[in-house]
Amino acid sequence: MSQLVLSDLRKSFGDLEIIKGVNLDVSEGEFVVFVGPSGCGKSTLLRMIAGLEDVSGGEIVIGGKQVKDLPPVKRGIAMVFQSYALYPHMSVFENIAFPLRVEGLSEDKIKERVGAAAKVLQLESRLQQRPGTLSGGQRQRVAIGRAIVRQPKIFLFDEPLSNLDAALRTEMRVELMSLHQKLGSTMVYVTHDQVEAMTMADKIVVLNAGTIEQIGSPLELYHKPDNIFVAGFIGSPK
Ligand code: ADP
Ligand code: MG
Repeated sequence: MSQLVLSDLRKSFGDLEIIKGVNLDVSEGEFVVFVGPSGCGKSTLLRMIAGLEDVSGGEIVIGGKQVKDLPPVKRGIAMVFQSYALYPHMSVFENIAFPLRVEGLSEDKIKERVGAAAKVLQLESRLQQRPGTLSGGQRQRVAIGRAIVRQPKIFLFDEPLSNLDAALRTEMRVELMSLHQKLGSTMVYVTHDQVEAMTMADKIVVLNAGTIEQIGSPLELYHKPDNIFVAGFIGSPK
């Protein structure tokens, strides 16, 4: 079943068209990676899906529902950014609980959901600490926890690992993939890193200057790139 459908999606800033008619169908539970060079429109596309950016043309359908006019909180999505601003004066528990307090959930429900998220992310023993006392990887997990507790239909990740060092990036890559397996949620993951795309994706969407160059599995793109751009960006060296 389709969880996310983009139809002829467009975005202009002033006279400049940045997203030039993007079509995409993401199935429930799929891990889709948007990859492409810096400035090609990955973040803009994600922000449009999240409702943080107006749409200039086309449609966004999430779970069968047209969401173009819905505010971000009503779209059933949660977004994790590269710069995960945690509240330094709050405990890990309160940082993760924050979106639920905004939603006005009961204390019992909050405890239950934060507990479940902490378990999945192996943060159970850290809940009373302040973010400043955690490692970079643990802090990123708190940011992901804040997304998990909202129980979104779709997770949107915008280069969530690019601030981490290489070793931690590899570790978090594995953790995110295992998280995807555990939750079974649909994930849309943006990166400019070919290795991340190749290792994490069920389906890769190669973007270039606001258009999709090719959509396919990592193996398809590697062995059968449609054009020189895809070949140069991802394809097999031969
Ligand atoms: P990526 O995430 O792939 O690096 P972005 O989506 O951030 O790319 O940006 C795509 C293009 O849109 C860039 O040329 C950027 O300068 C432009 N852009 C992004 N946001 C705005 C904005 N608010 N106003 C004008 N131009 C923007
Ligand atoms: Mg970006």
